[in-house]
This record gives sequence, structure tokens and C-alpha cells, in this order.
Amino acid sequence: MYYGLSQAQIDLQKRARRIATTLIAPNAAEVDRNEQYPWGNVNALRDAGFMGMTIPKRYGGSGLSFLDAAVVIEEMAKVCGVTGRIAVEANMGAISAVMQYGTEEQRRLAAELVLGGDKPAICITEPEAGSAASEMTTRADKRGNQYVINGKKHWITGGGVSRFHLIFARVFDQSGGECGIGGFIAIRDEDPGLEVGEREPTMGLRGIPETEIMFNDLVIDKSRVLLPPSGFRRGFGELMNAYNAQRVGAGTVALGLAAGAYEHGRDYTLEREQFGRPIAEFQGLQWMLADMSTQLEAARLMIYSAARSRGANDSPFPDANAAAQSKLFASEMAIKVTNDALQLFGAKGYSRNAPLERIVRDARMFTIGGGTAQILRTVIATRLLDRKFPQTRDGYSNLSSSSVVKKPNLKAI
Ligand code: FAD
Repeated sequence: MYYGLSQAQIDLQKRARRIATTLIAPNAAEVDRNEQYPWGNVNALRDAGFMGMTIPKRYGGSGLSFLDAAVVIEEMAKVCGVTGRIAVEANMGAISAVMQYGTEEQRRLAAELVLGGDKPAICITEPEAGSAASEMTTRADKRGNQYVINGKKHWITGGGVSRFHLIFARVFDQSGGECGIGGFIAIRDEDPGLEVGEREPTMGLRGIPETEIMFNDLVIDKSRVLLPPSGFRRGFGELMNAYNAQRVGAGTVALGLAAGAYEHGRDYTLEREQFGRPIAEFQGLQWMLADMSTQLEAARLMIYSAARSRGANDSPFPDANAAAQSKLFASEMAIKVTNDALQLFGAKGYSRNAPLERIVRDARMFTIGGGTAQILRTVIATRLLDRKFPQTRDGYSNLSSSSVVKKPNLKAI
């Protein structure tokens, strides 16, 4: 398949592949078993220049593109989903938002931490505000030149290991008037009031903690507000544009996991014999492999295209539609392809001694985190139909109270 990669990108891919297979792959099963954050892998990423490679050169980064980063992330995820995710968040998302909208001081701070090996945490989701992110209740109250933040987030990737936090909160001015949603930069262990709560026992990607993060009178100086050009009122949308890059990154990890699973599966069919012949000689399995590889190629082309794309109005970030479509396709493809690869292994695929069950568990995440498959479809439909569809009940009429779905009593189930 022709991907249109430059020679420099092909060289970067080769280098990433070498590092992934020699330094990262040997730890992947252990990272999953121990559920420990892989600091050794982080050091390998840092030493290779893969932490903060999209940071501009004037802040010490390599000034590489999102596509360059995607090429590296795919290689990492092929052998270790956790390391792939670390590479995403060290190059896309919070760091991209700061590099685009941050002050000089904020950029230097973020660059120093990330280039030193810190994977930033992005704090949006709350117990009662998941897909409906803008319904967040975490608040930032202005007090003179500072903001006081109170509230609770959950499912924050890197809780307890990340130091740089980009926190989204509802902003209120001195007299209590609501101003919109803003981004605030806090550093764990430096800014009192940022506390790490319970860790989720996750299905996969177990080497990265997903935790609650609480803010108890966390005081953030005005200089740590990440203010996009539209200010607080419309700034949430602008800040979320940076998330389009992270979405492409998440899709890339799904792609890498599926590509790794496919390669394991393909190799196994050549080696495993039944009925006196390699199982690769059975047409049923040949067609499975053909379908898997076709799906992978389609996802890769979409991801690379999304990584190259740019949104409207000279946005430095990938186009929202391309990001949503590529993540949607890659995440659903990864669930199918990793499961098919497990099938090729028969019982061995079901054993924790082989990597397939880990890869299947890891891949399951990507239709949920970073915009669910359903929400991404809504994003895509909004673009296709050039209309914004309100998801709240505002505007719905004749909804009798008896038709309102009651909250289930989970304790009784
Ligand atoms: P809900 O919003 O409660 O959705 C439940 C179901 O309803 C889903 O299937 C959803 O698709 C569907 N649904 C909801 N609304 C609609 C609608 N309007 N139309 C159709 N279907 C709908 N968040 C962060 O802020 N920072 C992080 O670092 C982070 N990391 C994460 C890592 C992992 C491993 C996971 C699993 C999640 C992470 N999240 C993070 C949270 C993630 O972004 C949310 O889980 C996601 O936005 C969905 O929210 P929810 O889980 O509350 O699901």
C-alpha cells in the first residue's frame, strides 16, 4: 500500500520499530501483569526523542508533525498498547493545546516536563459528565489574580504518575457570574489541593493508572490559565480542537494493537499444523487473514490522512471529521481484528501465556475513551448534514413524565 511517507518518515518508522521490538516488547506482558506504570519504557521513549517530538524546536522538542508521531505511536502500540498511549499523550492533546494557546512561560513549563519524561494528564470527564462533557460541574472561582478550583474528575489517564495536568472547569467571575469553560494548568505535588483518588481496576491497558482526581481549593494563578483566542465563552471548543490530534493518536494505538495481533496471527498460521499441514493452508483462515489485512490497510490510510489533515480556519489541529472517522473506524476494526487473531490461535489465544488475550483487552478501550463510537458518529453526522443536533432534552416537547426513563437502582441489581 502506498502511504505517501517521506524518506525521513520511513527512517523514523524503522528506528521506532527497532526500539519497540528490542526495548519495549520484552516488557509488555510484565507491564500488564504488574499493572505498574512502565517507567523503563518511558525512559526509552525519552532517550529516543519520542517524548515531546511534536514540541517546537525552540522549546527543545523535535518540531515533528502529527503524522511523524503517528508513525512512532503505531510501532509502539504494535508491541505494547500502554507504551503507545504514553507516546500519544506525550505528543498530542494537552501538550498540543499548550503549544498552540499557551503563554511563553506555559510552553516552557510543559516542554520541560514532557521532554523530561512526563506524560501530561487531561482532566475533563466527571462522574456525572462523560459524553456530555460540557455539563461538568468542577468550578474555578476567580479570587483576585487567582482561581480556586473545586470538583472531581474520574477516569484520568496517568492519575498519580503524571505531573502536568490540564484541568477543565466551569469559570465564575468575582461576582459569581458564569463565564464559560476554561483550561487550567496544575502540577501534581507542587500545587496543593490536587489530590489523586481511587484507581479503576481496568479491563486492559493496565500499566497506566486511570484514577479520580480531586480538587480541594486548588489555587491556580492567572498565569496558569490556558486561554484560547475566544476566551472562556467559546474557548472550550477551541481547546477541544487540540483533542482532535489526540483522537487520531488514540486511533493509531488501536491500529497498532490490531497490526501487532494480525502479525502474530499470520505467523502462527504458518507454524501451527493440523491435519498434517500448516493451518495457513485452509482457505477459511486465508480469508480471515485477507479480511484482517484489508481492514488494517483501510484504517492506516484513514489515520495517516487524518494526521495530515487540518481543520477549518487555519487550524493547526487535524480536521474534526477526519479525526472522528479515523478513530471510529480504527477502534471498531481493532476489536474485530484482535478477536480474529485470537481465534487463529485456538485455545492458545485464550491463555494468558500468549499475548493475544492482553491485546484483545487493550483494544477494547478505544470505542469508549476519547469520544465513544456513538458520540463520534454524532460528530460525523453533524458535519455531513451541516446541522448541530442538540443532545439534551431542550427543544423536545410533549414528553410526558411517565415516559421519562427512571434511573435504575444499581444497589438493588
Ligand atoms: P456515558 O457518557 O455515560 O455513555 C454511556 C453510553 O451511552 C455510551 O455507550 C455512550 O456512547 C452512550 N451515549 C451517551 N450519550 C449519547 C448520545 N448523545 N448519543 C448516543 N449515545 C450516547 N476522560 C478524561 O477526561 N481524561 C482522560 O484521561 C480519560 N482517559 C480515559 C481512559 C480510559 C481507559 C477510559 C475508558 C476513559 C477515559 N476517559 C478520560 C473518559 C472518557 O472520555 C469517557 O469514558 C467517555 O467520554 C464516555 O463517558 P462515560 O464513560 O461517562 O459514558
